[in-house]
Amino acid sequence: MRTVTKISQVRAIISSARHRGQQVGLVPTMGGLHAGHLSLIEAARANDDLVAISIFVNPTQFGPREDYEEYPRELAQDAQLAEQAGVDIIFAPSVEEMYPQGFSTYVEVEELTAGLCGGYRPGHLRGVTTIVAKLLNIIQPHVAYFGEKDYQQLVVIKRIVTDLNMPVEIVGLPTVREPDGLALSSRNQYLNADERQAAPLLYQALTAGAELVRKGAAGPEAAEHIRQMLDGEPLFRVQYVEAVHPETLQSVPYSGPPMVIAAAVYLGDTRLIDNIKMEEGNNNA
Ligand code: AMP
Repeated sequence: MRTVTKISQVRAIISSARHRGQQVGLVPTMGGLHAGHLSLIEAARANDDLVAISIFVNPTQFGPREDYEEYPRELAQDAQLAEQAGVDIIFAPSVEEMYPQGFSTYVEVEELTAGLCGGYRPGHLRGVTTIVAKLLNIIQPHVAYFGEKDYQQLVVIKRIVTDLNMPVEIVGLPTVREPDGLALSSRNQYLNADERQAAPLLYQALTAGAELVRKGAAGPEAAEHIRQMLDGEPLFRVQYVEAVHPETLQSVPYSGPPMVIAAAVYLGDTRLIDNIKMEEGNNNA
């Protein structure tokens, strides 16, 4: 495995792999690798000849009062985990490498970014789409892997690839969870013991909401039930609970799948998100 920091280096390695006819898979990350990231790497390992991951804490997707400074940066440990997982190349650029002086082009998706996290984190998704577009242009993978945990991000990335005719396949993979249901996240390490104990309620509430939908409840009714469950835990501050269409991300008035119920909560200063997707013909979530 090699770790490189320069765009020219990663380009040279990938382009010679492509010339050899190898299929290239990319897993973009911000590091702090956990089993959720590793599941994406595993999928790439199974499907592609050369597996690249990027590790870059992207400043443009953090708001002014968000956790950019505190965000975990553990490159040595990440490199070890990546190597064990069969990664061939880590691209870990500096901020200056990705945003040199004079940088002024951003990729922005309309409509899909208006609600959910996009509504509460202005500029966040613009930062995500910009960095992902850059990474896809730099590395030019055949396939790129993303987690359904960041559901709106996944939908928005599929949109840029379609709208900008980017020659890459986007694969979305299910959320990996702790045994108690908490979705793995690099931010879970911010939680204190009490918050960590309370945290699985987020998924429990979403699961209860999905169960209501399965029994015929409409989206808003299920969302309200989830909100009440979450409000019952004093450590939680609910930011949003929304039942939306899986592709348009518009709020759904109807009952039954297809539907994604997504929520964001604060536990102390830590913001956690999670969601449950109910597909047509499989309303068990
Ligand atoms: P991050 O490092 O948090 O930016 O995440 C990098 C990629 O890993 C994104 O595509 C995330 O959606 C994905 N990811 C994060 N947490 C999980 C999880 N618990 N299960 C599956 N994928 C995840």
